[in-house]
Amino acid sequence: MNSSDQTPLTQGVQDRIDALLAATPKGLLIDGVWGESSDGSTFEVENPATQEVIATMSSATEEDARAAMDAAAAAQEPWARTPVRERAEILRRAFDLVQERAEELALLMTLEMGKPLAQSRGEVAYGGEFLRWFSEEAVRDYGRYAQTPEGSLRMLVTRKPVGPCLLITPWNFPLAMATRKVAPAVAAGCTMVLKPAALTPLTAQYFAQIMLDAGLPDGVLNVVSTNNASAISEPIMRDPRLRKVSFTGSTPVGKHLMKLAAENVLRTSMELGGNGPLIVFEDADLDKAVAGAMAAKMRNMGEACTAANRLLVHESVADEFVARLAEKMSVLTLGSGLEDGVDVGPLIDARACESMESLVADAVGGGAQVVTGGRRAEGAGYFFEPTVLRDVASDARVLREEIFGPVAPVITFRDEAEAVALANSTEYGLASYVFTENISRGLRIGDRVEFGLMGLNVGVISNAAAPFGGVKQSGLGREGGAEGIAEYTSTQYIGVENPWGTL
Ligand code: NAD
Repeated sequence: MNSSDQTPLTQGVQDRIDALLAATPKGLLIDGVWGESSDGSTFEVENPATQEVIATMSSATEEDARAAMDAAAAAQEPWARTPVRERAEILRRAFDLVQERAEELALLMTLEMGKPLAQSRGEVAYGGEFLRWFSEEAVRDYGRYAQTPEGSLRMLVTRKPVGPCLLITPWNFPLAMATRKVAPAVAAGCTMVLKPAALTPLTAQYFAQIMLDAGLPDGVLNVVSTNNASAISEPIMRDPRLRKVSFTGSTPVGKHLMKLAAENVLRTSMELGGNGPLIVFEDADLDKAVAGAMAAKMRNMGEACTAANRLLVHESVADEFVARLAEKMSVLTLGSGLEDGVDVGPLIDARACESMESLVADAVGGGAQVVTGGRRAEGAGYFFEPTVLRDVASDARVLREEIFGPVAPVITFRDEAEAVALANSTEYGLASYVFTENISRGLRIGDRVEFGLMGLNVGVISNAAAPFGGVKQSGLGREGGAEGIAEYTSTQYIGVENPWGTL
């Protein structure tokens, strides 16, 4: 593929894009008002398919961070006292608005992040569900009233909002990573300062406007996009009024934020990197396994924390699996996500392409064979060919590091014990996938793998109703499910005198 292959947009589509970009807030949201940064500084957002600048955003400074924190702190008490049904209905209205404006959200995501429109629409559906799910969960956040075992006290156990939260999101799922944090925080009664990724702030800012349109009171959600993340995170995290930080991003940045969080003993939720194994046993249905591998590897161009990073295939089916996978990978169409029929969009930036080149070169240097792909596509835009590698040496970087791109290294194993040992031989523990028609074996592997998530004969498992999160260096805490709201509450116990007196 070559950038000159990209079809020029029709005037109608270009007009729609221009109108949408013009309508998307580009300032900072502080106390219910969109405004410019205190020193007038800005940063640019690029379309990774064309390398064209599509928007200029206000860049928050330390002073803006303090103002956002002031607004979140001032709004906390009245917001916590708002009846939970009101908070739930704001979320439900926001869900409806996301459905109404689904095409605008999808288009923004494709423009700033690159994924094909069909996948952006999928993210709108997935990301929107957190608003509906937590509107339903909000009113079911029960406490308990019980007596102590020896009868001396009554116990009143309730859950309170944890307090003002700093929410930091990555660029790879610009909507869903924001709704996955904002929705449970709203349900629990917390106020927020949201810092979206500088590469993809438009979707998050459009979504923040949806929250205002749904009736969220001023100051509850503040948004401080910036291209200087630490200018925001450090003053906010040192502020004693902040009570929690919820971060989705890379493990090194997560570790840095955990150190900062230690100063004020902040609650932390950390959704970090992954190095997911996808295990194909000899008794797998290979059609399912190949389809699952395609979904787990190629969703979001491989730029997903849940991506299958290492394909572990039983030696007896490896040749057939590799041939089928390579055939499917080699016919994928690369191009701008705005075009019909495109399966694979650009990677996020030049660094991402260089990283793929370097991982492939390292693997090949160690003896790996490139079955298909392996190169950067020519022309503008950050395109990398869907790639399958086999005979990859065990010390190759592509097996040890998070790939975050469309490269699928396949290695073989001989038996179940070896598959489990290979799967667990990483400091990460987020998503894993197992393909076998023997369900007891599948559940046995589930017991033995050190991963917070496992797909059994499926390649995509994210769902708003499910607790999402990792173990080991993939993070702490869970987003989604009943567990997701607990991250934003703290438990209080009140010991009440026994109404019958001491017996
Ligand atoms: P990143 O760590 O570079 O950035 C994530 C966010 O942190 C961005 O908003 C960035 O601006 C901000 N940030 C960077 N340095 C900071 C600092 N010093 N202080 C405060 N904020 C800072 O990650 P990324 O490249 O945007 O995203 C990719 C990573 O995210 C991958 O490792 C991926 O696995 C991970 N991820 C994890 C999940 C999950 O749920 N576990 C989901 C999506 C992505």
